[in-house]
Amino acid sequence: MARLICLLILAACMLGLWLAHQVPSAFAPAPSKQQAMPVQSGDAPAAVQEQITAPPTPPTQRTLPIPGESQEAMMSSTPITLTVAYDNNAFDARLKTAWGFACVVETPGLTVLFDTGGDGPTLMTNLEMLGIDPRRINSVVLSHYHADHTGGLDSLLEVGAPEAVYVPQSFPADFKTNVAKRVRQLVEVHNPMTITDQIRITGELGSNIIEQSLIIETNRGLVVLTGCAHPGIVEIVRQAKTYGEVHLAIGGFHLMNESASQITSVVTALKGLGVQKVAPCHCTGDTARQLFRDQFGANFILAGVGTIIVIGEEVQGQ
Ligand SMILES: [Zn+2]
Ligand SMILES: [Zn+2]
Repeated sequence: MARLICLLILAACMLGLWLAHQVPSAFAPAPSKQQAMPVQSGDAPAAVQEQITAPPTPPTQRTLPIPGESQEAMMSSTPITLTVAYDNNAFDARLKTAWGFACVVETPGLTVLFDTGGDGPTLMTNLEMLGIDPRRINSVVLSHYHADHTGGLDSLLEVGAPEAVYVPQSFPADFKTNVAKRVRQLVEVHNPMTITDQIRITGELGSNIIEQSLIIETNRGLVVLTGCAHPGIVEIVRQAKTYGEVHLAIGGFHLMNESASQITSVVTALKGLGVQKVAPCHCTGDTARQLFRDQFGANFILAGVGTIIVIGEEVQGQ
């Protein structure tokens, strides 16, 4: 009898042990989860690695302010074109000169008109002579609130261009309200802003006359495009250098009232900042243009209405 009891106890213990062993596996999630985990975690790093190495390459490196190889890799076969459509300096004799500035920036992703000159008829006629359909202009960026830069906007709005207008936030409220009614998007800019991978706005600079400039990434470096450069061309270039080396500074440098020695110090400062080429026009003044020509030599580009600069192939023509 005692032996029977012993056998029963032993059997019960064995059953208990068996159950103890079986129960955890009966709550199957543990082993099956453990088996699933390695698969997932094995996949996960691979997926993460792909994300790190592959996708960010084009968008991130284009937007990041990395000079040198990333920019070389960036738009190697897609040049950008700058066309001065409005200026008080002559270049293409077919076009009309008038006080003010406007420049068409054509990139693969977007066509931007930077400033609109002082009046619509001159702007529209010049665009037509240049073979640029104003309805191709996607965006207008206005540098500052001076009539020789904003005066042509009305005519563009009348023909249904552009979709977006970027103005410094400090523009008068009535101007902004009026434009906002007539375009799909009015963008008020205060801080640096990216329009596309290739085009950014400096944001509002200066303390007296607030102004914004355009920075365009090319495979040669940055292009800095200024309206009047009231905050100072050196200061604007300095800001632009946050994003890389400056290949070309173009636009109004506002040196027409400065002395030769003051101008020379600006030329020296721009060279010191590594600006490779300059195309000063509009309010730069003849004395300054001559001094830039003397100092930059072959890297001085004569700019006036009708100057076309292609960067990527570096062709200057008319
Ligand atoms: Zn001006
Ligand atoms: Zn101005």
